[in-house]
Amino acid sequence: MALVSMRQLLDEAAGGGYGVGAFNVNNMEQVQALMEAADETRSPVIVQASRGARTYTNDRFLIHLMQAAVEVYPDVPVALHQDHGDSPETCFSAIEQGFTSVMMDGSLLADGKTPSDFDYNVAVTRQVVEHAHAVGVTVEGELGTLGGIEDGHGSGEVHLTDPEQAVDFVRLTGIDALAVAIGTSHGAYKFSKPPTGDVLAMNLIQEIHERLPDTHLVMHGSSSVPKELVDTINAYGGEIRPTWGVPVEEIQLGIRHGVRKINVDTDARLAMTGAVRKALAGDAGEFDPRSYLKPAREAMKAVYVERMTQFGQAGHAGDYEPKTLEEMRQFYAADSGRGRIGTRLELR
Ligand SMILES: [Zn+2]
Repeated sequence: MALVSMRQLLDEAAGGGYGVGAFNVNNMEQVQALMEAADETRSPVIVQASRGARTYTNDRFLIHLMQAAVEVYPDVPVALHQDHGDSPETCFSAIEQGFTSVMMDGSLLADGKTPSDFDYNVAVTRQVVEHAHAVGVTVEGELGTLGGIEDGHGSGEVHLTDPEQAVDFVRLTGIDALAVAIGTSHGAYKFSKPPTGDVLAMNLIQEIHERLPDTHLVMHGSSSVPKELVDTINAYGGEIRPTWGVPVEEIQLGIRHGVRKINVDTDARLAMTGAVRKALAGDAGEFDPRSYLKPAREAMKAVYVERMTQFGQAGHAGDYEPKTLEEMRQFYAADSGRGRIGTRLELR
């Protein structure tokens, strides 16, 4: 089974100069679409679940779906990641379930809504790092807050990441990856016009990467919200207002400056909803759920294939042998977990 830690997957991406999409899953069709896309494009992949997805699937259903993905596609390196853990307990339970990576989002308090202070963020993130690294699991932290709300998570306020503070944050917590706030937001309504340099602070990525060349940077809220997906929904009775996402070229610019993980959720949601609406508008006598879930799966797969190709992860699935979590535990224990990205992991 090619279950890998996210740290290894991102280290390899840094060495190869590409980005890896982290795609949210909630149900079987999404997991299948994602894995078919990864298999077809020969891509390593991050399969991630939000707190909301875990609640929706009663945890066990989702973890078994994710494990099925690993089992059915042994040649695809897969990292299972907890997206936006709202407390250390959420991260610990994810680790217990078999996730190989967790995000402790201490930028917000445990209610998932109220922006926290720096000391709180450092304390909870550090706590998760100590626990996770002791069992070989990767940790992503977040500094600054994104706009928008995702699965009830988010303050709705934007606080851009301060590059100087980011250096302190990484030093004090020991995280593997840092989610940066550069003006993107969660959900479909990111921008009311095509984003320009003053709303999307790509220069911040560059500044943070210069100061933290050995920390993998993560872009959240990075769906591109393609017009054709929105148009399909609206052509079949939907009412999505005019909206713009993050242009793929901006993400590719980020990848050239240290972005290794790119979170995409909305684009697959749009693809699925459009396909279901279209299918239901077809044969009105049809009532087999597979008649609309199958096209939904196909539509999502097309989005995943496109993003995997654009982010550069396509073709890299066979580049390396997956390390076990035990090997990763030794890697952290040897304190070689720092300053090693861009090179293959070497164990003592
Ligand atoms: Zn996010």
